[in-house]
Amino acid sequence: MQYISTRGGIAPVGFIQAVLMGLADDGGLLVPEHLPQLSAATLEQWRTLSYQELTLELLTLFAGDELPRADLRDIVQRSYATFRHPDVTPVHRLQDDLYVLELFHGPTFAFKDVALQLLGNMYAYISQQTGSIIHILGATSGDTGASAIAGVSGKPGVRICILYPHGRVSEVQQLQMTTIADENVLNLAIEGTFDDAQRIIKEIFGDAAFKQRYHLRAINSINILRILAQITYYFYAYFRVSEQQPGRSISFSVPTGNFGDIFAGYLAKQMGLPIHRLIVATNENDILVRFVQDGVYRPEAFRSTHSPSMDIQVASNFERYLYYLYGENAAKVKELMAEFRANGLISVPQADLERVRADFAARSVENATCLTTISQVYAGSGYLLDPHTACGVAAADAEALGDITIALATAHPAKFNEAIALSGLEQSFPDEIQALFGKPQRQQVVPATSEAVEQHLVEFFGAASGVLPAPEDVLETLT
Ligand SMILES: *Cc1c(COP(=O)(O)O)cnc(C)c1O
Repeated sequence: MQYISTRGGIAPVGFIQAVLMGLADDGGLLVPEHLPQLSAATLEQWRTLSYQELTLELLTLFAGDELPRADLRDIVQRSYATFRHPDVTPVHRLQDDLYVLELFHGPTFAFKDVALQLLGNMYAYISQQTGSIIHILGATSGDTGASAIAGVSGKPGVRICILYPHGRVSEVQQLQMTTIADENVLNLAIEGTFDDAQRIIKEIFGDAAFKQRYHLRAINSINILRILAQITYYFYAYFRVSEQQPGRSISFSVPTGNFGDIFAGYLAKQMGLPIHRLIVATNENDILVRFVQDGVYRPEAFRSTHSPSMDIQVASNFERYLYYLYGENAAKVKELMAEFRANGLISVPQADLERVRADFAARSVENATCLTTISQVYAGSGYLLDPHTACGVAAADAEALGDITIALATAHPAKFNEAIALSGLEQSFPDEIQALFGKPQRQQVVPATSEAVEQHLVEFFGAASGVLPAPEDVLETLT
């Protein structure tokens, strides 16, 4: 499979190169050159596969011509051996027509582990096959950093540095990052805000000589492998629930920020999985809901909510959706993104909006509703939702499609105890999280300037990059 840019400005690249590239060089996002189409017969065959086998089949479609199947299988096995549940992502029936898909059984108790465990093992594999070094630099406001560190800690050939605002990530999130003792992990707590951390990352990636010298890679949600890895659980959950509910139509409700998770569901639908609707569930940062309602995509003021991992102004994967909405038309996407840069908005006509609504419904969930959903569901069933999942459940209720709805549970409530306490509930933490509180922490507090951060990076990345090449320089050695 070859990968191209949503803006059409790069020569097609192979799967491994797409994984390494992150953002396309023309500023667009990478997408597969064509989407595999699955027949009803294939879906029937896949129904009985384990989570790992299903991931292997899907990855074979997207990458199989570049990696031997045995290697892919090994990467997949190792990635999901770290999950605490044998089904990896089990479904749980919450009410008659409502299921939750638990995506939080990975090392950091949030759904990002599903993709970042796989990406971490893929990076280590690429490094090993090419005898090269992979240096990851990222900024986080919480979940992504912890999950990315868990994905690569201790892996040879890969080093990771994560920046986050000092004292401004949740206690559990900080502990998940700073209690990792491996030498290939560097935590830098910035004396500033998340915006400062992001600005520093932009400045460093903008310093072409520095980026080149240390072979820096990003880990944000635009990496194509993160999307591909998330397709599996839509299939897996669909198979489990349709067994129990034969003949019913099935929709998914997805707590949404950067549109990565729900976009994976959209790809599953485009590939032939008979999903009825995908419900975009946002918090008060509702740019995507307004788009589905009015056809206008326009950022508004940023709001802090009880579901901080969905606090966004623009959704970085939305561009990928536009590409498919307009029939894989890169020229059109390029035009729309130029319009967005020039005017600060994208507006689609009514006829196109009808097509959006054929696939998506959308609801934004207010802070107060998020908390009452947590307490009501707990009172009704004893099941404790995290605040992100609560947005998905509240949106599914409000939408009342008459389908069976599967709401994605994107985090374990222990990660967001602040919101649970505000809902008037008390919880006990899982042992793995409780154990973090006694462990020594490793982090360095640095001033919020790119110079200060670069100094640390030179020391951390410097030694290895003098010796080893970047994987792109040696890709032909891969079988
Ligand atoms: C990242 C995250 C989301 C949002 O996912 P997107 O792919 O950015 O839409 C939702 N819930 C939790 C807990 C997250 O960490």
